[in-house]
Amino acid sequence: MTSTLSSSIPSLTTTPDSAPLPISLRIRERLDSAGVAYLANDNIANHLREGELEQLEIEVAGKVRELLRSLVIDIDKDHNTEETAERVARMYLHEVFKGRYHDQPKIASFPNVKKLDEIYTVGPITVRSACSHHLVPIMGNCWIGIKPGDRVIGLSKFSRVADWVFSRPHIQEEAVMILADEIERLCQPQGLAILLKAQHYCMKWRGVKEPQTSMVNSVVRGDFRLDPSLKAEFFELVKQQESMLST
Ligand SMILES: [Zn+2]
Repeated sequence: MTSTLSSSIPSLTTTPDSAPLPISLRIRERLDSAGVAYLANDNIANHLREGELEQLEIEVAGKVRELLRSLVIDIDKDHNTEETAERVARMYLHEVFKGRYHDQPKIASFPNVKKLDEIYTVGPITVRSACSHHLVPIMGNCWIGIKPGDRVIGLSKFSRVADWVFSRPHIQEEAVMILADEIERLCQPQGLAILLKAQHYCMKWRGVKEPQTSMVNSVVRGDFRLDPSLKAEFFELVKQQESMLST
């Protein structure tokens, strides 16, 4: 089988003096000169130009191929790994880290015509992410509590925005805050609470090899922070949703 990425597509571009520059370097220079952060859990989709993601895919595949060679794997003879580099590049850019390179899914908000102000929770929403330290999976669930403000979004939209946010390398403490920022931006709730419970494969698969340990953290904002009874109600509703799962 030949590679699905044609090597004839240029992954290099040229400067005015014709010195070739990798596409990732051009993008990083653009981000640096604009003063835009590009940490592992940042989204850079707005700063990518037409065709650059395809060029990045070719560059990343080349680097993964070199990584495999550095791991002393004979990718020229091994039928199992001969296309691994291209698969891994596609997986990073379009699947597991798509939240860095792709735009947020379109999420429409609507006026809260009935002036609803009772809290509700949505969950469990599946968390699929990766730790920034080891690039291995973080898998878990999250629950979102809302006290509506002037605008509302559909229930399924919480899953869509969560998937987009989590599909980046993260540490759990920051992931929950970034998700909270995005939800606030989308519907400006009077109160927002998020609880995230996840297992980290850097603890399960390697290192201390603890298969059952999970990490739980939360963020509470607005009325959930100001009103302890509202905060308690959120955690009680999550507990009920969790117990419904086990029955
Ligand atoms: Zn880790």
